[in-house]
Amino acid sequence: MKLQPGELILTAPKKGLPPKHLVDYSLAERKAAFAEAGIPAYRADQVSRHWFGHLSDDSTEWTDIPDATASDIKEKFLPNLLTPVRNLDCDNGTTVKTVWRLHDGSLVESVLMRYPERITMCISSQAGCGMNCPFCATGQGGLTRNLSSAEIVEQVLAGARALKRGEVAGGEGRVSNVVFMGMGEPLANYERTLGAIRRLVQPNPEGLGISTRSITVSTVGLVPKILQLAKEGMQLRLAVSLHAPDDELRDTLVPINTRHKVKDVLNAAWTYAEATGRRVSIEYALIKDINDQAWRADLLGQMLAGKLVHVNLIPLNPTPGSIWTASNPRDEKEFVRRLESHGVTVTVRDTRGREIDGACGQLAAVEK
Ligand code: SF4
Repeated sequence: MKLQPGELILTAPKKGLPPKHLVDYSLAERKAAFAEAGIPAYRADQVSRHWFGHLSDDSTEWTDIPDATASDIKEKFLPNLLTPVRNLDCDNGTTVKTVWRLHDGSLVESVLMRYPERITMCISSQAGCGMNCPFCATGQGGLTRNLSSAEIVEQVLAGARALKRGEVAGGEGRVSNVVFMGMGEPLANYERTLGAIRRLVQPNPEGLGISTRSITVSTVGLVPKILQLAKEGMQLRLAVSLHAPDDELRDTLVPINTRHKVKDVLNAAWTYAEATGRRVSIEYALIKDINDQAWRADLLGQMLAGKLVHVNLIPLNPTPGSIWTASNPRDEKEFVRRLESHGVTVTVRDTRGREIDGACGQLAAVEK
């Protein structure tokens, strides 16, 4: 779908969603659905242990399930959701980016990033994105559709399986962190994103058993959805893509700002921080001569001073043919210094995957 400049789409059409998958169901629902499909309910438990506990998607390894039953389960509950189109790695093989083709031909991408102390999966929540941010390749293509919960979780499971098989440089490992910073606005696909998060945090055999505190949901600032998330009773990390401290510029950089102003977005973020006790991350892509002026650093510092907050400055990874480019290192340093002078903690984000089209959406854009 091609969007006109300034046009915003918050809810995607349901068209194109895949058939329901084992991962879409809670354990109790799986058992009920198996029984309804004429498969003994205890088989749901067995398959779930293979799927989430042993990370096995190969039914020949399920020695406690007869072949005919395994085939039946695969046909009814395990439709193929993600087909790898392309794998690219960099950072000596410790960053692996995958483009996936979904059942309806849509493309999404995920990135596995291995650090000494953690392994993070960056995943997509939508095919494309309706938020239309002008500096972002995904935003230029518009929204195709929401992903199902299983399509979201399977991106993490694919990384977990590759790690278990020792296919990622550095040997065997486990996914410890998940960030919703791939394609899409996760809070515009709220129910399925939450469904996926539940599955990621529930212990085996219901889910993958990742700590809630190790999951980051990134949003451009859908105020009602941030407030809803604050009431979920989950200690997720919230990252708000602010990119500008003033409405005038943010209306252009993040067009949803015409609906949810900076002040309201930040107030929602403080409500979230208070409800969860979690420090909110403010994401700020530094763009040369656009939002990297010293006065904007001071304004941002004043707005954030004294709050439960941390700023992540992101050196912009320019999209092909874009007029936007990364700030000078000198300006970046001054921006950091000014924020810190207001008592705000700041990091300049490690730009993993830069040499493999690391900005969100770029790789899938190339595949199209
Ligand atoms: S920056 Fe994020 S929210 Fe904006 S268009 Fe790109 S994917 Fe969507």
